[in-house]
Amino acid sequence: MPTEDDRSGPCFVESPRMGDLIPTRVLCVAGARPNFMKVAPVMRAFAACPRFEAKIVHTGQHYDPKLSQVFFEQLGIPAPSIHLGVGSASHAAQTAEIMKGFEAVVVAQQPHCVLVVGDVNSTIACALVAAKLPRRETFHTCWGPRRRPLVVHVEAGLRSFDDDMPEEINRKLTDHLSDVLYVSEPSGVTNLANEGVSPDRVVLVGNVMIDTLLGAREQAMASPILDELGLTPNQYGVVTLHRPSNVDDPDALATLVGTLDHAARELPLVFPIHPRTKARLDAAGLALEQSRWRICEPVGYLEFVKLLSSARVVLTDSGGIQEETTVLGVPCITLRENTERPVTVEEGTNQLAGVSRERVMVAFRRAMSGAVTGRVPRLWDGHAATRIVRHLEQVFRDPAG
Ligand code: UDP
Repeated sequence: MPTEDDRSGPCFVESPRMGDLIPTRVLCVAGARPNFMKVAPVMRAFAACPRFEAKIVHTGQHYDPKLSQVFFEQLGIPAPSIHLGVGSASHAAQTAEIMKGFEAVVVAQQPHCVLVVGDVNSTIACALVAAKLPRRETFHTCWGPRRRPLVVHVEAGLRSFDDDMPEEINRKLTDHLSDVLYVSEPSGVTNLANEGVSPDRVVLVGNVMIDTLLGAREQAMASPILDELGLTPNQYGVVTLHRPSNVDDPDALATLVGTLDHAARELPLVFPIHPRTKARLDAAGLALEQSRWRICEPVGYLEFVKLLSSARVVLTDSGGIQEETTVLGVPCITLRENTERPVTVEEGTNQLAGVSRERVMVAFRRAMSGAVTGRVPRLWDGHAATRIVRHLEQVFRDPAG
C-alpha cells in the first residue's frame, strides 16, 4: 500500500531549486459544507510552501451563510478568489452550471493543478472540466510533460457500493478522472485497486477533515453552546439528517423521526436542522416535541465540535460526522444501511444501524450502556494536508515547462 513515506517509486523526483521555478498554480474547489473543513488544512499547507500559489474557487453550491460563510470565518480559510454563485438546482442543472462557470475560470487562470475534495456535485463537475481542458502551455510532472491541469482528488476511493446515493456516482467518476488520488482510509486503497486505478497514482495520506478537527478542538471547547441550549455534558444526544434517502420521502422521514423521538424519551436530542431537512419536515407537517428536543438551525463548526465532544451519543446520516465521532471517541449511530467509511465501524465508535426502529434502539441502548469504544485510525493525526502538499511537490517537476 503506497504511503507518503514511500519515496522509492518512479513518480518521485528531486524537488527543483526554488530559483528555477514559477509558482505551481492550484485551484482548490469548494462548494458545499463538508468541503470547507477539507480545503481549510490543504490551503494552509499550500500557504506554507512557497512553490505553490493556491486559490479557492467557491462554486456556490451551498450559499446559506450557515452552511458556508461561517466556516471561512471560523477556520481562517482565505476568501474565495472566484465565486461561481451557482445556487440550488436539480443535479443535472447544478452540475452543468458549475461546469460552465468553472470552464471559464480554468481558461482564464491556466492552473497546473485542480484539486477537488469529497463527493459533492462541485467535485465531479470541476474534475470533469479540468480533465478535458488543454492549457496554453505544456508543463512537466514526474510522469512526463503535460498539457491539461493535473486533477487531484482528496478523499478518494471511498465507496458505499450504493448507486442510489448521488455521492457514490460523484465519487466513482471523480476518481476515474483524477491523476492523483489521496486516500483517507485503507478501504479506499483497496477499492481503487479493485477498479483498476494505477497504484502509483494512489497515496494513503490520512484524513484532512481530522486535521481540521484536531486543529479546532481546543477553541471549540470554549464555545458556550451547551449553556445556550441548556444542556449538560454527557446528558444529551446529537442528531443530524440530510441524505435524500432519509429526508425526501415524507413517509420514510416520518418513520425515522418517530424512531428518533422514541430515543428522545430517554435522552434529550439536539437537532441542528439542515435547510433541506427543515423544508421536508415543514412540508410533511412533522413537528418535534419541544420538551424532548432542542431544535436549532445549523450551527458553526466550533459550536458543532463542542456539541459532538460532550455528547453521550450521535445519531446521523452524515459522512464526515462518522469520522469526527471516531476521533472524539463518542458513540455514533449511522442511520443508513451502508457506509463508505468502514474504518469508523471496524476501528472507531460507529454502529451502522439503518433506519429500522428495532436496530436503531439496539444501537442506542448499546451506546447508552458505555459499551462502545474504539481507536483512532492510522494517519488520522492532523498531518494529512502536509503529506498531500509534500507529495505534490514531488509530482510537479517544473511547471514552467
Ligand atoms: N457540521 C457543522 N454544523 C452543523 C452540522 C454539521 O459544522 O450544524 C459539520 C460537521 O462537523 C462536519 C460537516 O459539517 O464537519 C459534515 O457536513 P455534512 O453532514 O453536511 O456532509 P457529509 O459529511 O455528509 O458529506
